[in-house]
Amino acid sequence: MLSIENLSVKVEDRLILRDVNLNINVGEVHVLFGPNGAGKSTLINTIIGNPRYKVVEGSIYFKGKDITDMPIYERAKLGIGLAYQKPPEIPGVKLRDLLKIIARVDWEEIERMAEILKFKDFLDRDVNVGFSGGEVKRSELLQLFAQNPDFMMFDEPDSGVDVENIKLLGRIINHLLEKDRKPADRRKAGLIITHMGHILKFINVDRAHILYNGVIACSGSPEEILNTIIKYGYKRCIRCYQRRR
Ligand code: ADP
Ligand code: MG
Repeated sequence: MLSIENLSVKVEDRLILRDVNLNINVGEVHVLFGPNGAGKSTLINTIIGNPRYKVVEGSIYFKGKDITDMPIYERAKLGIGLAYQKPPEIPGVKLRDLLKIIARVDWEEIERMAEILKFKDFLDRDVNVGFSGGEVKRSELLQLFAQNPDFMMFDEPDSGVDVENIKLLGRIINHLLEKDRKPADRRKAGLIITHMGHILKFINVDRAHILYNGVIACSGSPEEILNTIIKYGYKRCIRCYQRRR
């Protein structure tokens, strides 16, 4: 579904990502770990096509198409979606109206999902205006559900969310990614950025990567990598980082 080859990215003339390679197949969900400032959000912003993030080397392929220079709306139409870490407030725009514009599923289904997310009362509020951290995350998930993209990225869906809601969000992410279906029936793929492992208890992830200082320092099984991070922090990554850069 997604293939990234030798990708290097500059932001404001500073090189942030260096020689990133990543392959995510249909049916797979990958998780991206890494310390603050490593470049995780930069990678996601580059995949969605935010013009502030300049590809200086390498390519991004989606469903076999080279999308490296494609504008953001074309990528969205092709089926890439993103739940932002910190989406902006949009005063004057009701969540209901935004959902109706972006919807690729029936309104009844959106209402049902809003119900599950305990978010029906928010449909007539201005998007993100005065929302708490957890409410912003639920709003992002509802928008993603409405867009129904094939490839979904989640930038720290668990940050600022209390423990009870992490379970709910984790289960819904798992559902959006069709990880609650039989492997043969899965048509989606995803990339999740998270600091804490909590949410991963509720999502069936296939592979993990650590981004360290703009470089993918290692990849492997999510449990193994998470346990190593919990035990040693990111200090151990320095060795792999130096080998890879
Ligand atoms: P992470 O998500 O891993 O915490 P980011 O991708 O947000 O890291 O940031 C990586 C580096 O790129 C940081 O030093 C950050 O300040 C810089 N950066 C990211 N986005 C921008 C931007 N829009 N303008 C300027 N600097 C940016
Ligand atoms: Mg980030």
